[in-house]
Amino acid sequence: MSKVLIIAEHDGVVLNQSTAKCVACAAELDDADIDIVVFSDSGADIAAAAAKLDLVSRVLTIDKPDNKHALAAVFAPQIAALAEGYSHVLGPSTTFGKDLLPRVAALLGVNQISDIMSVEGNHTFKRPIYAGSVVVTVEAPAEQTVVATVRTASYRAQSSGNSAPIEAVNIDVDLPGHTRFIELRSAASDRPDLQSAAKVVAGGRGLGSTENFELIFKLADTLGAGIGATRAAVDAGYVPNEMQIGQTGRIIAPALYIAIGISGAIQHVTGIKDAGTIVAINKDEDAPIFEIADIGLVGDLFDAVPELIDALG
Ligand SMILES: Cc1cc2nc3c(=O)[nH]c(=O)nc-3n(C[C@H](O)[C@H](O)[C@H](O)COP(=O)(O)OP(=O)(O)OC[C@H]3O[C@@H](n4cnc5c(N)ncnc54)[C@H](O)[C@@H]3O)c2cc1C
Repeated sequence: MSKVLIIAEHDGVVLNQSTAKCVACAAELDDADIDIVVFSDSGADIAAAAAKLDLVSRVLTIDKPDNKHALAAVFAPQIAALAEGYSHVLGPSTTFGKDLLPRVAALLGVNQISDIMSVEGNHTFKRPIYAGSVVVTVEAPAEQTVVATVRTASYRAQSSGNSAPIEAVNIDVDLPGHTRFIELRSAASDRPDLQSAAKVVAGGRGLGSTENFELIFKLADTLGAGIGATRAAVDAGYVPNEMQIGQTGRIIAPALYIAIGISGAIQHVTGIKDAGTIVAINKDEDAPIFEIADIGLVGDLFDAVPELIDALG
């Protein structure tokens, strides 16, 4: 039997879908008994959302002022203490999980497994390497707790309809004072969140400027889509860093992905290869993006995109 502890990701108000994807991954383990732990200062609503996820046995809440903000340095010692008796500790391969799980692994004295794409056995997993161009099978020692991040683009969110019991837990460990929350800065937007949007329109260096990138915003708004960019577009300053998709940006899996003025470098493609339908607009017919596109248009984006906006509008 596998006893799995999943660390809930949330923003203090809403449970992030990445948690439901971790449950879907945990469900692939043999005979999985799945608990979710919610760290917060007042996590009742988040715990209630977690309790609805199918196959979850229990939701544990650890409410204390120290847990108000998701600080890896503060959560990790509490998770390490809670991990006793669990065979697996899982978190999402998002910024939250990638920050937190290595600390948990270090405290437990085990190696972390990154980016689980599929479960092959209770200690055997598939994960991507070299920007997703190679998939390796890795095996963790059977006698150790498996601490791992789950590649959220590889899993659909677990269905809900459950009503798992919620239990308050008290963990008494010394918390470090060297890391403090100062402030959170994030861009407010009414547009769909890039990470979870069903449709995403992304632009690359082919746009040429911040002003021209407005075309991407217009098309995205016409479609009700999230907006992404390549690293080249971000490095050129057309759009902010949080829009970057790829190996060193977001890994996304929308139903529809439209790549405009994007060449299709492997480091970019690794961030979108789980997308449903991929559409590419590029003036170079040999651009690698066309190798993975379901629908491709060879042409100048400055002609094609306004036409598309008109047609859709
Ligand atoms: C370690 C490492 C990590 C990286 N991580 C990432 C990452 O996370 N995400 C990422 O995106 N990249 C990443 N990169 C960079 C990656 O290798 C590419 O350089 C980058 O993705 C290229 O971006 P681009 O397609 O916008 O630009 P280019 O490769 O310059 O492509 C621009 C495209 O626009 C087309 N174009 C130009 N004008 C027009 C027009 N008028 N109409 C239609 N098409 C036009 C061109 O034909 C071309 O194909 C990483 C690189 C390294 C080394």
